[in-house]
Amino acid sequence: MSYVLALDQGTTSTRAIIFDKSGAAVACAQQEFKQLYPRPAWVEHAPNDIMGSVVGVISEVLVRAGLTAAEISAMGITNQRETTFVWDKKTGKPVCNAIVWQCRRTADYCEKLKSDGFAEKIYNKTGLVPDAYFSATKIKWILDNIEGARARAERGELLFGTVDTFILWRLSKGRIFATDYTNASRTMLFNIHSLEWDGELLRLFDIPRCMLPEVKPSGYRYGETDKSFFGSPIPVCGVAGDQQAALFGQACFAAGEVKNTYGTGCFLLMNTGRRAVKSRNGLVTTLAAGLTDKPDYVLEGSVFVGGAVVQWLRDEMKAIATAEDSERLARSVADNGGVYVVPAFTGLGAPYWDAEARGTITGITRGTTTAHIVRAALEAIAYEVCDLVTAMEKDSGMKLTRLAVDGGACANDFLMQFQSDILNCEAVRPKVAETTALGAAYLAGLCKGVWNGTEEIKQNAAADKIFTPNMPELTRFKLLEGWKNAVLKARAK
Ligand code: ADP
Repeated sequence: MSYVLALDQGTTSTRAIIFDKSGAAVACAQQEFKQLYPRPAWVEHAPNDIMGSVVGVISEVLVRAGLTAAEISAMGITNQRETTFVWDKKTGKPVCNAIVWQCRRTADYCEKLKSDGFAEKIYNKTGLVPDAYFSATKIKWILDNIEGARARAERGELLFGTVDTFILWRLSKGRIFATDYTNASRTMLFNIHSLEWDGELLRLFDIPRCMLPEVKPSGYRYGETDKSFFGSPIPVCGVAGDQQAALFGQACFAAGEVKNTYGTGCFLLMNTGRRAVKSRNGLVTTLAAGLTDKPDYVLEGSVFVGGAVVQWLRDEMKAIATAEDSERLARSVADNGGVYVVPAFTGLGAPYWDAEARGTITGITRGTTTAHIVRAALEAIAYEVCDLVTAMEKDSGMKLTRLAVDGGACANDFLMQFQSDILNCEAVRPKVAETTALGAAYLAGLCKGVWNGTEEIKQNAAADKIFTPNMPELTRFKLLEGWKNAVLKARAK
């Protein structure tokens, strides 16, 4: 029997899952770690907390599965993207805590980049819009603000890595210093067309090239973990950022295939094949996970508040006791009663990009109940995803025919049916909900020959439930009009 281990290093927790050849999860272990908020809008992770959780969950999952490290054919790593580590090449000691993707400390500098006219150049090279979210300005902040860091970096004493790189380096005792295309494409330093670190951007951000890891395909023999960690070395054969890993885990290998993850936020990714599609609608262009040195391109759009609107109903509005209750309540009314919730709590992302927009509820009458508002909030998640899909269809010229869904809120059958209705296309929920970990496992297992090709993986991909559209055209049209009007009322400009 062949087993593949996936390590999923996320923003709030680290998980390890062992999959067998059928793609079924055999065992799972999970550990949360501390979120550090040293100032408002700053978010950090302690590198040693991350490593403690990584070693902890791998050891634990082996015990739970009753396997030794020697029985693991390959390991794949998937990770929270953009989070930035800088450490000493000799001692391995980080120069400061990791700066997490959510951290806004470089927001002003990014505004300046835009007002200085760098946005187009950066987009043309990296596919990204200048934002504090991506790694480049976080590295610059470390070099500019940690005493002695810039001089040490210039002497070649410091290394930069996203989480994957830091984990690989530590688990191999410094023998592997590498990342994959998907993680590199989120740094805002990597030219996604020439597939190289970009000299001009490195000069713009004043980052020495010698700090940067080698960039490899996502499915690639990176090396082995040092045998001191788990008793025997484990071959690491896959690395991918979480969203691209989920796209791979959903078997969206062909141009036009799309997945959406319904977590705290929503992440919609469309594989556009060998074509890097330029967005005119506020999406970013990034690289897909694959096994060759010619990765496919992806259009990516995100919504800040997805499942988080359900948390808000539960924790702030006290309208529901659990997230699951939202489904029962939504079904207790025949329709939304004319109510729309626009959950623009932190502004609106793609395709509106209105940072000043705020949450709005429209269409309230004397007869409006909590159930209507809960229903409208669930429907809002589907409308937001629909707006992203529309932007993606316009940019790519490809029509969506099937949406692969995953993430915590895809467990909600009401939401999934409404999503299918409003998009007028199938929404397919997979049996193995852990698509991110599965994607990392597939990349590693394909590279190691556990699976023979993507066809075999497609056959593994069983659906738990397929939601088919069942809404009259006129109803859909009216609902979308209602949503558009509500968004207008939420907008600041
Ligand atoms: P993340 O990875 O971003 O932490 P998860 O994929 O674990 O998110 O999904 C958690 C989110 O899904 C939460 O925002 C929660 O409110 C929402 N959620 C979970 N179950 C349901 C449900 N049955 N109906 C609606 N939303 C749900």
